[in-house]
Amino acid sequence: MPQIRIVLVETSHPGNIGATARAMKNMGFYELALVAPRQFPHAEATARAAGADDVLAGARVYASLGEAVADCHLVVGTSARQRSIQWPLWTPRQCAENVWRRPASHRIAIVFGRERSGLSNEELDLCHFGLRIPCNPDYASLNLAAAVQIVVYELHLARGQAVPEPKSALATHAELESFYRHLQQTLQDIGFLHSRKQLPSIMRRLRRLFGRAGLEKREVDILRGILSCAQRQARKENSC
Ligand code: SAH
Repeated sequence: MPQIRIVLVETSHPGNIGATARAMKNMGFYELALVAPRQFPHAEATARAAGADDVLAGARVYASLGEAVADCHLVVGTSARQRSIQWPLWTPRQCAENVWRRPASHRIAIVFGRERSGLSNEELDLCHFGLRIPCNPDYASLNLAAAVQIVVYELHLARGQAVPEPKSALATHAELESFYRHLQQTLQDIGFLHSRKQLPSIMRRLRRLFGRAGLEKREVDILRGILSCAQRQARKENSC
């Protein structure tokens, strides 16, 4: 079965980390990653974890979200907000159905944001899909650990239900990130962008596009080959 990692970004309240560990273990998930937690380890986290202190003890701490998901094949970002940009958004149920169809060798990260401000746009750019828990539109922001609980519950219910997709060698997050850096550099080299101000929104849309496609490693290699070729042509023209 694919491996599920719950990632909490810059959590302020250690109690929420403990409650997340408990929610995870209740549903049979054990892999917790913490990105720059404000206070960890902490007595409050241990107290709220109740019997799930093994999940806390096994939690890995990272300096950035990029590092926490570098080896993952699918990264899902959760948010209470509806973003203006077209973003493939799942409910927890759709996410659960999709996740278990992935090949057993895949690593999947579900990312949760800060208590106050959620995930930044830059962090959501690192995610291939979004997840929103349907709720009262006038009061849509759940407590962090409550949001984790709903997501892992749906994952638990759907476990063992899905027929796995055939094995494919999807590119990892780190491979995709170096492709995006290469793409961005090429867009500049070939003069596609008229001003640097366009860069973030164009890159955001391209990330969504490639994220939806689910690129395999070999496809990334072909695309990078095309980019290198375009860069060489642009250098030749510039030197004429
Ligand atoms: N004001 C923040 C809310 C943060 S709540 C915002 O607008 O994003 C803390 C975290 O809990 C969020 O970053 C998200 O990971 C999760 N969360 C809370 N409510 C959610 C919802 N309705 N759907 C999906 N995730 C939610």
